[in-house]
Amino acid sequence: MSFVLPGEALCVEEEALPGEYVVSDGKGYLRSSVIGVAVLNKYRKIASVKPLVRKELTLRQGLVVEGWVYSVYEDVATVRIYRSNNSRVSAIGLIHVSQVSSEYVTDIYDYIRPGDTIKARVLNNTPPYLLTIKEPHLGVIHAYCSSCGEELYLANTGVLVCKNCGRVEKRKIASGNYILVA
Ligand SMILES: [Zn+2]
Repeated sequence: MSFVLPGEALCVEEEALPGEYVVSDGKGYLRSSVIGVAVLNKYRKIASVKPLVRKELTLRQGLVVEGWVYSVYEDVATVRIYRSNNSRVSAIGLIHVSQVSSEYVTDIYDYIRPGDTIKARVLNNTPPYLLTIKEPHLGVIHAYCSSCGEELYLANTGVLVCKNCGRVEKRKIASGNYILVA
C-alpha cells in the first residue's frame, strides 16, 4: 500500500487493469485520479485507489489550520489537517514550494519535512486545500530529529537542535509558536 496523488503512476498497463479511481493515460501507465492509497489486487490483477476521507468540508480560504506533514513529494508537501481554530477537522492540504517561504527556496527540506507539525493558512475553498506557511507566525511548530528521531528544540539562534544527538536542523519556524524552546 502506498499513498498517491492525482496523476501519479501506479503501474504499467501490462501489470493490472484499472479499477476504481484509476485511469489509463494512453501511454502505457495506469494513474490515480484522486488523493488516496493505492491498492493492487495481485490475484485479480486490478489496480485501484481508496480515496482519503474528506468528510468535513468546513475549511475555507483565510482560516489558520494545524496539520501534520506526511510526505514531501518533489516540490509539494502533503499535510493531514486536524485542527482549525479550536475544532477538529479531517482534510488534506498541499503546500507548493512557492508557498513555503518568501525567500528563494533551493531545497524544500530546509523548510519542511515529513513528521513536522505545522500551522498554515488555507488559500482556497475546496479540497484538496492549498496551504501557505509564508507568513512569519506560520510554519513548523514541532519537529523530530532526522537522525535519531527525538524531538527538536528551538535555539535562540533560530535553528532546531537535538538534545539527544546534537544534530542541528533548519525549518521555516512559526515565529512565537514553536512548542519546545531550548
Ligand atoms: Zn537527534
